[in-house]
Amino acid sequence: MRLYDISLYRLPWVWLQLLAAGSLLVSAGCGVPTYDAEPFKVHIVVLIPSSNLDSGISEESLEREVDILNKYFVAESGTPTPRFELNDVVFYEDLKGTSCGDLLTLATATAPYNGTAWETAIDGCMDEKARSPRAINFYIVDSWSEDRGFENANSHGRFNSGRPYVLLDWERLGHNIQSPGEHEMGHAFGLDHVCVEGAKRDSDTNIMASASCGLGSGGLRNIGFNDEQVTIIWQHAEKIRENLEPASNL
Ligand SMILES: [Zn+2]
Repeated sequence: MRLYDISLYRLPWVWLQLLAAGSLLVSAGCGVPTYDAEPFKVHIVVLIPSSNLDSGISEESLEREVDILNKYFVAESGTPTPRFELNDVVFYEDLKGTSCGDLLTLATATAPYNGTAWETAIDGCMDEKARSPRAINFYIVDSWSEDRGFENANSHGRFNSGRPYVLLDWERLGHNIQSPGEHEMGHAFGLDHVCVEGAKRDSDTNIMASASCGLGSGGLRNIGFNDEQVTIIWQHAEKIRENLEPASNL
């Protein structure tokens, strides 16, 4: 039997078949992203004084934002997407005397959103209460605009070269108004907007749909990420993981 085995592997067609099988495995490996099962930590920081907040906002209600992410940050096909877990909840009052005062100034300013200023303030912040180096930082803000004042509810998410963060307007907590958490987290994982021509406010649309193209509403954003988006998410997830400090550095 042993002799037969050896002679079998001497046959050229056997090697050809093995080589073909090997190349199939390699090509499949190239297109398939690595599914990282370890959840990403989410560090929630409320940048609004408690006295200005609706009384319904509590540590428990903020913790639910992580459940919302795990429920809705999903792929249409059911392909796995990154999971999330709470790091900590920090309130405005907890940041008294912080070295990251620029963040508090930006958060309470009656000035239009300035993305560069936010990025600079977040990147320069070394107070771990205000910016965790081990987590995706998720800031609750009260966004302001010229025409709507603090009624404005714009929110933002940035990949920020692998140190992602989200700015979520408090009026959108609890999955309110166009699936805000998963949409902004999509940006944080490197996704751009999707234009859905002719979409109305109540149309079923992809999580990343937006009215910014001028051809339709962002819609309900209730359709999970498509295969292309999932691939982009996992590519960015890998870079984010490389940049996050491990918990063991505590
Ligand atoms: Zn967006």
